[in-house]
Amino acid sequence: MKKTNLEQPPSPEDPGYVEELQAEVSDEFYSDPKIIEHYVLLQEIGVFRQVESLKKEIRSYHDLVSAGLDIINRTSLDAIMDAAVFRISDHFLPSFITFLWKPIQTRDEITIKSYQNYRPTDLGIRLHSITPFESFFRSHPQPVAYSLLAAELEDSDVLQILEKLKPEIIIPIVGGFGLYGIILMGHRMLGEDYTNEEILFIEQLMAFVTQAIMNYLNYQHSLRDVKTGLYNHGFFIHRLGEEIARTRRGGFSSSVIVMDVDKFKNFNDTYGHLAGDKVLETLAITLKQAVRGEDVPSRFGGEEFTVLLPESGNEGAWLASERLRNAVAGMRVPWNPPLPQVTISLGICSFDSREQLSADSIILRADAALYVSKQQGRNRSTIWNPGMGHVEG
Ligand code: GH3
Ligand code: MG
Ligand code: MG
Repeated sequence: MKKTNLEQPPSPEDPGYVEELQAEVSDEFYSDPKIIEHYVLLQEIGVFRQVESLKKEIRSYHDLVSAGLDIINRTSLDAIMDAAVFRISDHFLPSFITFLWKPIQTRDEITIKSYQNYRPTDLGIRLHSITPFESFFRSHPQPVAYSLLAAELEDSDVLQILEKLKPEIIIPIVGGFGLYGIILMGHRMLGEDYTNEEILFIEQLMAFVTQAIMNYLNYQHSLRDVKTGLYNHGFFIHRLGEEIARTRRGGFSSSVIVMDVDKFKNFNDTYGHLAGDKVLETLAITLKQAVRGEDVPSRFGGEEFTVLLPESGNEGAWLASERLRNAVAGMRVPWNPPLPQVTISLGICSFDSREQLSADSIILRADAALYVSKQQGRNRSTIWNPGMGHVEG
């Protein structure tokens, strides 16, 4: 069997490949009148033209697959979109391309990114929801001419906004969570309308692009707690593991703060579970606003939250903890009738390369400190110290 080279698979484009084929054809081929007769016949009925066009088709599928793999392997939305625009502009130049998407199951705004002349640009489009498109794309999960969507949605608000762009093709990003977003493409800049071949290319390439965008959004979703939009327990533990390794290499301290809502069972019993949920949602927003960009605020479970503070020792973590405690004690929960103030108790544990603590030990220590905060009257912060119970490192 012929040895295949995985790094360099044979291609009809390789001169070596053609030589190899020709070597297999003996001189007899060029002198035997019968063979020549057949050859001419095949040529006359267009077999060689057909072979050429099949070769061309194979080449374009080859290009498509490598473009698709390039796009699908990108690990940020910007990189995915940049690659998509770059690949499309290999074939033609649309007047614009706009990507529109929303994070899964959060109330976060729609994000919009447009490109013109290969470059990101702001086309001044603002959209607060893609819900009006959902039912249309449930029955049209493929790219469609914009005019079809326009006919169905008539003069709705969202359509009036899109109308300004004068899109030609609209590509839905549809998957397990329904409509994640849409991609709009303007008319072809040079020459005529899109050819059927180009439309097919757009459909095929966009299948990779939409898949890559969904992968990214699904991944981001898998890191989050659905109720609060904070990072979830799993991601927190993952990041803590990374941070422990980093402190060992870097020779600095980092910290974990564990916090728990005070007397929350009473709160739920008195004001109801929905009011309790609203408190947790508001607390999450407060938490996000009160920490630094590099900190990792997470919902650990129930009414317990954690923050990982990279490169903050006891002192920095204490200040952050008190800032959080005061922010929560002063937060207003939008609810009718107004709710009483809630408070949190917090426990702090710092770690560095000296003790080689495991993630579990760090959390147990912060928990032990939190327990002391509760014991001493709640609505307070406590830094762990060895007197608070022995935890194996
Ligand atoms: P302590 O000050 O000692 O922490 O008292 P506590 O009442 O907060 O403590 P406990 O652990 O007994 O109660 C926790 C409560 O948190 C009970 C549970 O119903 C409530 N809780 C946990 N998760 C949620 C949630 O997602 N929504 C709501 N509304 N309540 C929750
Ligand atoms: Mg609790
Ligand atoms: Mg509690």
